[in-house]
Amino acid sequence: MNGNDWMERAACRFEDPEIFFPTAEDGPALDAQVALAKSVCARCVVRAECLVEARARIPYGIAGGLTPEERRIPRPRKTVVEPVVALDDGPRPDATRSEIQAAGRVLLAAGRTQQEVARRCGVSARTVARWATQFTDTSTTRGVA
Ligand code: SF4
Repeated sequence: MNGNDWMERAACRFEDPEIFFPTAEDGPALDAQVALAKSVCARCVVRAECLVEARARIPYGIAGGLTPEERRIPRPRKTVVEPVVALDDGPRPDATRSEIQAAGRVLLAAGRTQQEVARRCGVSARTVARWATQFTDTSTTRGVA
């Protein structure tokens, strides 16, 4: 088994390779050629693997369901949540439970009282007490005083 085994499952295996290299310069003719190639990619079970390979090594043609120009668009990065900032004026309306808990732990680690953390995070004092216990357990496990 090697890293390119996925190619054996590619939907384009039995297609004319030329369809992945449009010859039209622009306009409806180019659109039609691109659409034809993309229609093959759309039913391909190894599109994700192909796209990784294409982004790294295939500068021309349609691959992984994208044109070369589309492949050059940077992939969106994961948003990094800054819990303290997010909770300065209370939890964001769209904050998830785990984000609120993470923010609470940051506030506890920063020395805020459990009462203040409960108020800022919009949770009960009991919940914060539980976070504090878990935080202490985790800190102790990691060798942090
Ligand atoms: S995604 Fe498209 S180009 Fe890539 S293997 Fe599948 S059919 Fe072929």
